[in-house]
Amino acid sequence: MSGNHLILFIGFAIISYLTLTLVLKVNRIKQLEAHKRNLKKSLEEMDEQAKLIVRTDIELNKAQEDLDKKISGLYSLQKISRQISTTLEEESIFNKVDPGHLEELGFEKSCAFLWDEEEKKFKIQLKIGYPEDYLRNITSRVDLDKNLYLNLIGTAKTFSSISDSADTRIKNKINAIFAVKSFVISPILPKEGSKGFLFIGTENQDVTITEGDEELITILGNQIGQGLENARLFEKSWRAQQELEKKIIERTRALSAALEEVKSASKRKTEFISSVSHELRTPLTSIKGYAAIMLEEKLGKLPPAVKERLKRVNHHSNELANMVNDLLDIARIESGKAEMKMTPQNLSSILATAIDLVTLQCRNKNITLAQNLQKDIPVIIADRSQIERVFINLLGNAVKFTPEGGKIIVRAKLKGEEVQIEIQDTGIGIPPEALKKIFDEFYRVDNAVNQEVKGTGLGLSLVKHIIEAHQGKISVASNVGTGTTFSFTLPAK
Ligand code: ADP
Repeated sequence: MSGNHLILFIGFAIISYLTLTLVLKVNRIKQLEAHKRNLKKSLEEMDEQAKLIVRTDIELNKAQEDLDKKISGLYSLQKISRQISTTLEEESIFNKVDPGHLEELGFEKSCAFLWDEEEKKFKIQLKIGYPEDYLRNITSRVDLDKNLYLNLIGTAKTFSSISDSADTRIKNKINAIFAVKSFVISPILPKEGSKGFLFIGTENQDVTITEGDEELITILGNQIGQGLENARLFEKSWRAQQELEKKIIERTRALSAALEEVKSASKRKTEFISSVSHELRTPLTSIKGYAAIMLEEKLGKLPPAVKERLKRVNHHSNELANMVNDLLDIARIESGKAEMKMTPQNLSSILATAIDLVTLQCRNKNITLAQNLQKDIPVIIADRSQIERVFINLLGNAVKFTPEGGKIIVRAKLKGEEVQIEIQDTGIGIPPEALKKIFDEFYRVDNAVNQEVKGTGLGLSLVKHIIEAHQGKISVASNVGTGTTFSFTLPAK
């Protein structure tokens, strides 16, 4: 190869190399530009993302603020509610809404009015955030537009600056009257009594009423309504209770006076019976004495007709003496003057004495008299002679009012710390209407037996007095035509 050829070859090689390098560089530049474009796009996208994040953050913050406001609103509402629900006086309910609570809710002005049906006007109940003279102005303007407020209450709906359906003219009017920029009016609707409305507002232009605010004020209005209702119900039941207590006191007084009257009348009656009986006893004793002497013919022989009449005098004097003695005993027990000689007594021994006295009568009428005393019946604590009288009276009556061939049974058993005694007969019985009077003095049932056999109507009264003087109780159960059972208790040892 010649030198020229070599130079040409080297030149060609260099040119080829440079061309290749240039092509590569151009490619690289193209690649870099594509990369740069991608990068720019990514940057733009990132910028968008960043903007979105900022926007979302702002929204989140706002939502958080709203939520905080709502929570603090609910918290203050809960405080007011608790105060209202524990108030039982109508006048104090509105005092429970204080300016602090309202500020927490985001308002500084509030009024509440209740409709007075008698005077046909609204009366102010709550005044927050207004000077007194301005309140007078509000009250007279509310009075002037009473129909507007009555209509608002009538809808039973909350009305506010953000209510869609509301007439702007009315909104502006309310803003002007209450000197605010936005407001909420919630009806107060207790089930009973006067209705009204709660106004809440703010003059701060930056504060916009939200649906949440509307909701809170509606709840507050309802709470006040409920509180008024509770207070009225409480007042009503309290009044009724006072009335009742007054009546009870009056009745108790009247009853005590009547009781005193009865006691003193009964005392006077006892004293009267006691003195009359005493007065009767002396002449009776001499009548009986003289009759006895004459009957013994110590003063000379008597013609049979006189003797016969004298016998009757003697018999009737004895009856009268018995009656006077019974009356005196009743009077003595009633006045507490008769002392019961309480000693341990054997019941069957007392019963034996009484039964002895009626055995003959039972035999004459073919009446069976049985005893059923519980085994080991304890000793009773009683005045023996008085309890004998009780048995004699009750058994005597049983025999008297039981027809021939009947049966009388005496039962006794221990019941707690008392002995319970029953005297049951198969006699004529006592009609229901007579049962409650049976222990009254001089009371006798109008029946065939009583028309024939004499009696005083004092026996059962005396029996009751004796039993009660022993701290016992006596009762009677009877069926006409079937028989009668007297039951009484006596203290056991
Ligand atoms: P009296 O026997 O003197 O009439 P009481 O006071 O003992 O007076 O009794 C009052 C009345 O009670 C009797 O008249 C009689 O009507 C009624 N009575 C009492 N015991 C019985 C009885 N076991 N069965 C029916 N009636 C009786």
